[in-house]
Amino acid sequence: MRHMKIWTLAGGLALAGAAQAQYDAGLLRLAQAHKAALTEDLGVVVNMDSGTDDAAGLAKVEGMLAQRLRVLGADVEVRSSPPAAGRTIIGTLHGEGTKNILLMIHYDTVFGIGDAAKRPFKVVGNKAFGPGVADAKGGALLILHALDLLRERQFRAFKTLTVLFNPDEEKSSLGSRSIIQKLSADQDFVLVFEPPESERVTVGTNGIAYVHLDVQGRASHAGSAPEAGRNAAIELAHQLLQLNDLGSTAKGTTVNWTVVQAGGAVNIIPEKAGATADMRMSDPSEIARVQADADRLIQKKLIPETQVSVRVEDRRPPFGRNESSDSLAALAKSIYAEMGRPLTAAAMRYGTDAGFAYNPASPAKPVVLDGMGIVGDRIHSSDEWADLDSIVPRLYLTVRMIEAMSVRN
Ligand SMILES: [Zn+2]
Repeated sequence: MRHMKIWTLAGGLALAGAAQAQYDAGLLRLAQAHKAALTEDLGVVVNMDSGTDDAAGLAKVEGMLAQRLRVLGADVEVRSSPPAAGRTIIGTLHGEGTKNILLMIHYDTVFGIGDAAKRPFKVVGNKAFGPGVADAKGGALLILHALDLLRERQFRAFKTLTVLFNPDEEKSSLGSRSIIQKLSADQDFVLVFEPPESERVTVGTNGIAYVHLDVQGRASHAGSAPEAGRNAAIELAHQLLQLNDLGSTAKGTTVNWTVVQAGGAVNIIPEKAGATADMRMSDPSEIARVQADADRLIQKKLIPETQVSVRVEDRRPPFGRNESSDSLAALAKSIYAEMGRPLTAAAMRYGTDAGFAYNPASPAKPVVLDGMGIVGDRIHSSDEWADLDSIVPRLYLTVRMIEAMSVRN
């Protein structure tokens, strides 16, 4: 009986929601009218290399993106972001409302110089191919065309609508992270345009850290005086076995040793050895926990008179799953439902700049949502593709989200 009652209530709410949903035919028509131009723009920008270390390529893409923002009426500021090879673009539109909204994505790719010439933009059926076509040049073009749609609709009910394009996300955003953190603190909402691999928005991403393990031993001739040496490689092997379970299944933390270095010559007892582990976590306090556990474990040594040290380096904080982001995802779902399309919300294991936008001390300001980009798959591979059929629903989603967030309490 009890279950029956809940079912009836849920069914009633769902029906009421469906009846309230206003299908915006005018917006859908405008979005459809943008599909061809967005696809063409995507081809232009995909055919410009912009690997994270490619200063000349990044400058070219920067020039195009900044110019487009100016044409859309934004105040544009371009900031050098050392140690990044490229610069961070910030475009701001001023409206008449009360909410500050940030749309952001990176314009660097993982690809090298010459890759765009080798594999230029190409469309096969509903799929577009080329370096960075989904991650994340499709997201950058969605932002620009969504701003254009808002202009066509003469929508100005936001206080500020800010766009941030950064040049170094694929290498941990070392130069742009402080700009993202500072700008995000002033926002009510932050939408991140990383590509989902299906009709999804992202309500959480993992943080990333590196664990560095270093052993100092003593060198000696391996043939004539091995007993005078202290073998750093053997001590490292011992420590790796001890430190192989630093992860936590309960907390969703993984620690995997992936890079190991020791020795230089066959006839020398190695003086130094080192290893690095890839760590992923959704709880930022795991960094201190792993550091403390590792510090305790390394005390137990195999080779006397070696020195062992371990250091956890925080590379990218998590975007922790929270109620505010879940409720923003519910808004996105209701907007997709207007088009008769399903949308899922999920936390993902990879790390993105959403981690720098998100403030765990204040999850409701700004409210962060990721996965707003173009749908695509095979990211970071030579087969990377973007689903051109997702352009219209994603434009519709972005515009309706901005309009709804501008009046949301
Ligand atoms: Zn990306």
